[in-house]
Amino acid sequence: MFIIWGKKQKRFPEGFIANWCAVCHDMREFKVTRIHLASHVYYISFSKGDPVGHTFTCQHCGAEHYRNLDQAFHTASELKPLDLLIEETNPNCMEIWQEDVALSEKMRQRPQELSPAERQHLLLQPLYHLSYLAEKQGSNVTLTGLLTGMAAFVLGALIGSLLGPLIDHPLWVVGITAVSILGLLYLSISYNRNRFMRREVYSRLKPVYLAIQPSEAEIIQTKITLKPTKLKIGDWLNARALLKFLANSPAGAQS
Ligand SMILES: [Zn+2]
Repeated sequence: MFIIWGKKQKRFPEGFIANWCAVCHDMREFKVTRIHLASHVYYISFSKGDPVGHTFTCQHCGAEHYRNLDQAFHTASELKPLDLLIEETNPNCMEIWQEDVALSEKMRQRPQELSPAERQHLLLQPLYHLSYLAEKQGSNVTLTGLLTGMAAFVLGALIGSLLGPLIDHPLWVVGITAVSILGLLYLSISYNRNRFMRREVYSRLKPVYLAIQPSEAEIIQTKITLKPTKLKIGDWLNARALLKFLANSPAGAQS
């Protein structure tokens, strides 16, 4: 008998905290969630598992910031206006985050003074905090993905059957059908990924990336830096598509 077992992530809400968001580039309200890893058999777990850390989720942009278990913080039991949340959970936040606040001001007011290293830091940070979106998307079979995959299969088979009578050798017909299906599958996967990146990632990167105005070479450098992390967001990041998205976005507009 084949038994499926492993570790399953469990999430427990723990309150709210005021914190710096590297995607919004501002102090924001965050929802705090404690992450546990529990053993499962057939995806059913019978324990809470062991705590492994916390995620802070920005209530404005959805970015996730991770905290190790040994990093202490104080939460409020309910969401409240930012100034009250700062007072209750993170009163020294402006001192704690002063380097980020200063860099953010420089980015907004004097972007031409940013060094290449500062520009790379500003381009990379939001991608780390949004990377969970692509990881989640990559592990889900979406309806659009399934439908476009099936359409690629049907169209590929149709191309093969249309060309079939024109070609003598049956092996060539099988080859052409297979290449058509694989080609169309590849196109449908990259189309869906690009659409996902535009909707979920580029739209959130927009305020920072419009302020920095990165070159194609800089985005390619960001991709290269992300490569060892094996994060899907790095693989799916497309410099040309991102630049086209930014060029079509009016400055200062939020989607
Ligand atoms: Zn945010």
